[in-house]
Amino acid sequence: MTSQRTRDRLVARLARQGIRHRRVLEVLATEPRHLFLDEALAHRAYEDTSLPIGHGQTLSQPWMVARMTELVVQEVPGRVLEIGTGSGYQTLVLSRLVKELWSVERINALHRRAGHRLGQLGIDNVHLRLADGGHGWPEAAPFDVILLTACAGELPEPLLAQLAEQGVLIAPLADRTGCQWLTRVRRHGERFERQRLESVRFVPLLEGVIR
Ligand code: SAH
Repeated sequence: MTSQRTRDRLVARLARQGIRHRRVLEVLATEPRHLFLDEALAHRAYEDTSLPIGHGQTLSQPWMVARMTELVVQEVPGRVLEIGTGSGYQTLVLSRLVKELWSVERINALHRRAGHRLGQLGIDNVHLRLADGGHGWPEAAPFDVILLTACAGELPEPLLAQLAEQGVLIAPLADRTGCQWLTRVRRHGERFERQRLESVRFVPLLEGVIR
């Protein structure tokens, strides 16, 4: 169920559904998504579906991970900040494609488990922090790309402030009716240009830390 053949089948499906970036597809074909799930769910790791990771959170579906990663690598992905480490799978995928990555999670159990898994895989260009991601990571700013893997109503001001000039923030944002849109926000000086991409579904961005 976790064989190379199953992974190749998933990647072929993602390519048919519009994921074009060759390196992104290669990374999804290579990296072990099953290691980021509980054993009982590992056999479903290469289905194109989101799966629970405990604490009411989910590992996004592979198509969504691929799409967000594509949006990141279209930029100059030097310094990247991810809000919502979760299982650490999106973090792993990004670590293969960007220079240096900072990732913040608010739930300690998830933060620790992700650190353990990434450590076992020998990933050394990722910095993890247990914190409310709404504050960003001021000491490591500015970032070329900030990626939110949870849906915000309004964009936290500190995140916009930590974007480099021409940097982008990629996030699911909820409109007034509660619909979520994958949104790209590009910084031009003190002006932030928003572009709505597509309709999506994510867990909400929440405040505070759970220890
Ligand atoms: N990228 C993750 C997706 C996890 S779901 C993966 O590949 O598994 C979104 C995650 O965002 C959850 O783990 C949730 O706890 C976290 N989150 C929500 N609000 C947050 C906040 N303010 N700061 C940091 N993490 C947050």
